Amino acid sequence: MSKEQDWRESLFYEQKNGYDLIDAEETKLVYAYAEGYKRFMDAARTEREAVRVSIELAEEVGFKEYIPGMALSAGDKVYLNNRGKSLILAVMGSEPLSEGAVIAGAHVDSPRLDFKQLPLYEDTEMAYFKTHYYGGIKKYQWVTIPLELHGVVALKNGDVIDVCIGQDPDDPQFVITDLLPHLAADQMKKTMSEGIKGEGLNILIGSVPYADDGKDRVKLAILSLLHDDYGITEEDFLSAELTAVPAFQSRDIGFDRSMIGAYGHDDRVCAYAELRAILDLKTPRRTAVCILADKEEIGSEGVTGMQSKAFDTFMEDICEGQGVALRRCYEKSFCLSSDVCNAFDPNYPEVSEKRNEAKINYGMGICKYTGARGKSGTSDASAEIVAYLRKLFAENNVIWQLCELGKVDQGGGGTIAKFMAERNIDTIDAGVPVLSMHAPFEVVSKLDCWMTYKGVLAAYQD
Ligand code: MN
Ligand code: MN
Repeated sequence: MSKEQDWRESLFYEQKNGYDLIDAEETKLVYAYAEGYKRFMDAARTEREAVRVSIELAEEVGFKEYIPGMALSAGDKVYLNNRGKSLILAVMGSEPLSEGAVIAGAHVDSPRLDFKQLPLYEDTEMAYFKTHYYGGIKKYQWVTIPLELHGVVALKNGDVIDVCIGQDPDDPQFVITDLLPHLAADQMKKTMSEGIKGEGLNILIGSVPYADDGKDRVKLAILSLLHDDYGITEEDFLSAELTAVPAFQSRDIGFDRSMIGAYGHDDRVCAYAELRAILDLKTPRRTAVCILADKEEIGSEGVTGMQSKAFDTFMEDICEGQGVALRRCYEKSFCLSSDVCNAFDPNYPEVSEKRNEAKINYGMGICKYTGARGKSGTSDASAEIVAYLRKLFAENNVIWQLCELGKVDQGGGGTIAKFMAERNIDTIDAGVPVLSMHAPFEVVSKLDCWMTYKGVLAAYQD
């Protein structure tokens, strides 16, 4: 080797495709991990379902529901279910909480079409549900795709009825119609954000009239079906949380099956990585905490979002059990804000700065900062934190890449990172790169999913 080549080797930072770095043995693990993830995804289409499934998996390996004041010792595994919509799991460390906790935080809510509180109406002898979209969607992507209905109806008597229609192969599904191209000359002149309007996202749910001669016969027929199946009346929609989500099963993508297409990778792909990591964990040195948060897609608001005190209350409770002040624990804690980043898409190179964008199959994506414009709205992790991860991941053979969200001034976004940093916890964004983020069917690479699991596990075990 010439001296010149030698210098290149030692001075350049050269990223490699993950498949050039792992052996056949690990490739098998990559593909096996993806099978478990796909099963999780097909059982968890909403935050409520994700929480339910996660609790089932946690209880199988010995996690117990946390009761404030309960005595905890090293190796104990507990979870806190926050109103059925977010979940905190912890494995107690051998060191006290005064040494801090290792936290991984992902979110389990995804963009979707929520029903309005008075959703049902009839027009031209067809029945519809009106919706109000949740999170950042491109509305044109949500018409003419099969939809499932999920959620709950809370009754005055305190009962809560679970609804899940469209997932079973025998179930009906639902759809929002679009204009035929023959009559769409005016629509096609509009911008993509105006071609389909928010008030146009009305879900078609029936067409057979009730056998009488009154008004709104199709609406009445639908209500009578719902009354037969669920015992509900129109008024019960007032206290319902119903949502339409894409009716797509998770599928392998590509001849080589190297990718997964599914609804809601953002951010259940990181939620699953964290969950698997904490379920597989033996007694860690520092207490490990896994957060599956709600409401990230609308700003982490509400009692189940990361701005809620629910997390602090849980942490304060377990700290109190050891006579440790919460603030002492937080200042020594470390948090991986485990959320997806965008993967470079060669179909749209103009929005990216290729040198600093995550690439499919290049491993777990670490974002030092997110935000918009001049890094507005990001917590911007310290160089020391990135250096810590470089060492941790090198020692644990985690393939990873540093990335940012698009070109400067192209757009932007945020995660729960800043809300964790506000608590005086060192925090950095780390997650799986995604193609078509926020679309009804998103794509991730199996290798990146596996590396994110390995990355979170390495942090928990450090
Ligand atoms: Mn996200
Ligand atoms: Mn998102």
